[in-house]
Amino acid sequence: MFDPIEALKEFVRHPSVSADPAFREGMTGAREFVAKLLGSLGFAVEVVKTDLHPIVLAERKGPAEWPHVIIYGHYDVQPADPLNLWTTPAFEPQVRGGRIYGRGAADNKGPLMTHIAAVARLLARRPDLPLRVTFMIEGEEEMGSPSFPKFLEAQSARLRKADFVFLSDTGIPREDQIVITCGLRGLVLCDVEVTGSKSDLHSGLHGGVLRNPIQAVAELCASLHRPDGRVNIPGFYDDVLDVEPWEREELRKLGGDAEQYRAFLGIPAFHTPPGYTPFECTRFLPTLEFNGIGGGYQGEGTKTVIPSTAFVKISCRLVSNQTPAKIRELLHRTIAERMPKDVTYRIVDQHDGTPYVVVPPHRSNTPKDQSPVLARAFDAADAAIGEIFGKRPLYLREGGSVPIIADIKRVLGLDSVMMGLFLPEDNLHAPNESFHLGVMEKGMRASEKILERVADGREREGSR
Ligand SMILES: [Zn+2]
Repeated sequence: MFDPIEALKEFVRHPSVSADPAFREGMTGAREFVAKLLGSLGFAVEVVKTDLHPIVLAERKGPAEWPHVIIYGHYDVQPADPLNLWTTPAFEPQVRGGRIYGRGAADNKGPLMTHIAAVARLLARRPDLPLRVTFMIEGEEEMGSPSFPKFLEAQSARLRKADFVFLSDTGIPREDQIVITCGLRGLVLCDVEVTGSKSDLHSGLHGGVLRNPIQAVAELCASLHRPDGRVNIPGFYDDVLDVEPWEREELRKLGGDAEQYRAFLGIPAFHTPPGYTPFECTRFLPTLEFNGIGGGYQGEGTKTVIPSTAFVKISCRLVSNQTPAKIRELLHRTIAERMPKDVTYRIVDQHDGTPYVVVPPHRSNTPKDQSPVLARAFDAADAAIGEIFGKRPLYLREGGSVPIIADIKRVLGLDSVMMGLFLPEDNLHAPNESFHLGVMEKGMRASEKILERVADGREREGSR
């Protein structure tokens, strides 16, 4: 058995910044390191080419009746700049104060190493463990996983036969409180460009005869929310599922002080739709936001101009069971209806992402046809995390979007057990990123137990 911390140090030493072509060597190094490590554990390793950064696929095969888990991770990291804010160099990992410092230590090399080490320990102890394991480790996560959906489609025949996906690339609030993420919001993005006159006009010579495109954009924007904070698009909420009481209860257990949150945001008051706490709003409700707006003169002083064009950038966060296609259509239709007829406009659609939700077993809204292996994995995680961390995990939806999870569901039909492992103070994407070694050690024990129970459940069921 290898030393997980030494292995993690070596992993972090490869500067695998996916977004920057200058780090090509670091990408190759990190990929080869993880491929070799999995090879040494007896996995059949394949490096699958993509348009950009290859994906490592490593399999422990076995009879078809063994449960099959896919463990996801990514070997790429965010750029390390600004370098001068690091206490020790970003790619020279150092252990101090019970943490390992270095770019990628928490996102995602540490959590990935946690699972690799767990599997290594488990297989050393039980070489005949009846479990198929596939590591699926990509190199483009930090740039939005552009190659991943295509990879999934190409590998779908073999991967979709797995039972579930297991990963740690989400957060926890405290060392002793693991969170299993059960939902992620989707996305719809577009730009609206409004044009009035064919060129900018003198506001003295022509002012008063036409609608200013900035005014048209402002009128449109102002029409898209109701005074109570809800989105004002007919049909927008039609597919939003009611929040089950157990979900509200989980969130209550997480705690959190609304007044502190308000002060943290630096706002005079919340603006939330009725019936939802601020913490519920970010997890359970869809939104429509303006991400940018512009037009006309932006320089110093004044310029008496009626601009020819103005724009607004709009994004919606979606929740289950909304679909990006329907929301996009509703948004287009509403814009068409409300845009003043004395200007012209065009909508430039940007990317979108499907919302995701997975319901643990034994809940009021657990799907009747839930995979028994997935249910067993959730049960095993609940028990193992409770034993090892001293507290049962919380099952929470998150406000953010992790498109690969919805892609995995869409293409492979598989659900994910997302066991969070990084803490708020891990400084993801920031200088002095680090990973808590106590969480890593407990995470290894938890992962080992979860995987063992998933494997042994089959034997129990088989011997019945
Ligand atoms: Zn990550």
